[in-house]
Amino acid sequence: MEERASISVRSEPRDRRTLWLQLAVGAPVLAYLAVALPGERQELLRTDVLLFALAVAVVDLIPVPGWGGLQLSLSFPILLGAAIVFPPPVAAAVAFVGSADPRELRREMPVLLALFNRAQMAASTLTGGLLFHAVAETGGPAPPFVAGVLLAAVAAYSLNALLVALYHSLLRGVGVLQVLRGMHGSAPYEFLLAYLGLGLFGGVIARFYLSEGFWSVAVFLGPLVFARQMYFRSRALADRLAEQNRLLAEQAARLEELLEKEHRTVDELRELNRMKGEFVAVVSHELRTPVTALLGYAKTLRQPEFAEDRTLREEFLERMERQSERLLRLVENLLTASRIESRQLPLSIGRVLFEDLVREVVEGLAPEAGRVVVRIPRDIPVLTTDRELLSRVLQNLLDNALKYSPEGSPCELEAATEDGWLVFSVRDHGIGIPETEIPKIFERFYQVDQSSTRTFRGAGLGLSLVRDLVQHLGGGVEVESVEGEGSRFTVRMPLRHPSADGPRTLPREVAAEP
Ligand code: ADP
Repeated sequence: MEERASISVRSEPRDRRTLWLQLAVGAPVLAYLAVALPGERQELLRTDVLLFALAVAVVDLIPVPGWGGLQLSLSFPILLGAAIVFPPPVAAAVAFVGSADPRELRREMPVLLALFNRAQMAASTLTGGLLFHAVAETGGPAPPFVAGVLLAAVAAYSLNALLVALYHSLLRGVGVLQVLRGMHGSAPYEFLLAYLGLGLFGGVIARFYLSEGFWSVAVFLGPLVFARQMYFRSRALADRLAEQNRLLAEQAARLEELLEKEHRTVDELRELNRMKGEFVAVVSHELRTPVTALLGYAKTLRQPEFAEDRTLREEFLERMERQSERLLRLVENLLTASRIESRQLPLSIGRVLFEDLVREVVEGLAPEAGRVVVRIPRDIPVLTTDRELLSRVLQNLLDNALKYSPEGSPCELEAATEDGWLVFSVRDHGIGIPETEIPKIFERFYQVDQSSTRTFRGAGLGLSLVRDLVQHLGGGVEVESVEGEGSRFTVRMPLRHPSADGPRTLPREVAAEP
């Protein structure tokens, strides 16, 4: 018969309850056998009884690979055959003696558990036998014989499954039904059909035995045991193949995912390459304009007719100075961007008078400096921060405010302090920024107008630098803008830089994405 109780790790009270069950099943079966068997001495002494017990033991002891689903139990039909051909107590004895467990032989199983296993098989066989004999006769006509066999099979299997489930429910502290469900998985009807089939097979064994003797049963069983082993092997092989298939499918899915990632990376790289090309073109153009102007002024100044014109010389020199400053700002921005990229932007913390710094930056914006209206309260404390980086932030914000607003319109620079923070804003009354563009303007190289005919100079670097530098100074930047009305960029930064103790390099989170 198929189901047996196994050994597992147990806790004390549960252990005691399973012991009681083992005793409650084992003791009455032993007692019954002790009382009933002496009356069957004649039958018991027949070699065939021993042969049946031996057959059960042999098919049980042949190892089969572990299999989670339906098992093809050969001991079940043999025991049912015994239940049909022998009186019930003798069949029970065959089950008790024959249902050996390899773990018993290896002394890996407690005696009581072994007794329980054997006793519940004996009880199941006994029940099957009693039911069969109540319904049919061993050599009687086929219809009642088949009905008796089927009834016996259902009863024997049910009792067996129930006792084993009871044992496991006590052992694991879960409901019997739950264990039964676990035992039969999702195929309870398949189990029933299989055991009805095995029961009929038991009937065939009994009939064969009655007409031909035990040797015919042995001849019958030999190829079956072989077939069973083959069946399990092929199942195991099919399982292994299915597992390999599953692994292959998993790997294929992973590869597909990687491939997709690769495609995305290639697309990103292409886009970066395109942006790089565009950037080089824009920067070349940005560099070319002041250099061409400088060259033009220099050439003009060398002309002999201008040698004596002091006013014109002064004006040209001033223009040259402005173009040089513009050039210098662009080169400095490029340098800073490259340092941010390589995470090598050292901080140089020192005392900074905000008002002085603003004055210096605004003066550098000449000839547009006059458009900047500065409103800074006198009580702003001395900052402890990086002067150079802060001046770059101011320069870029003011440069944009002047650039993106009409000539002559004012741009306001306001500042205030709030709880250890300096808050300053640069406001213009220019073209403004479309709402949908606002999230993108701090991206590197991003320009709202990306056409080649754009009216405004610039390389799309300024605001990304402002964002990175302000973060480096321990603060943040925000923008409010209405298209056609103007924009306000507000910076919040600590009056005293958090790492006011010495130089350090750009932290990871501030570093620009590649
Ligand atoms: P750019 O060199 O093009 O000025 P920035 O990074 O400084 O690059 O700015 C990114 C884009 O944001 C600009 O191209 C411009 O379209 C928009 N922008 C920045 N500042 C202003 C502003 N004050 N008013 C309107 N648009 C602005």
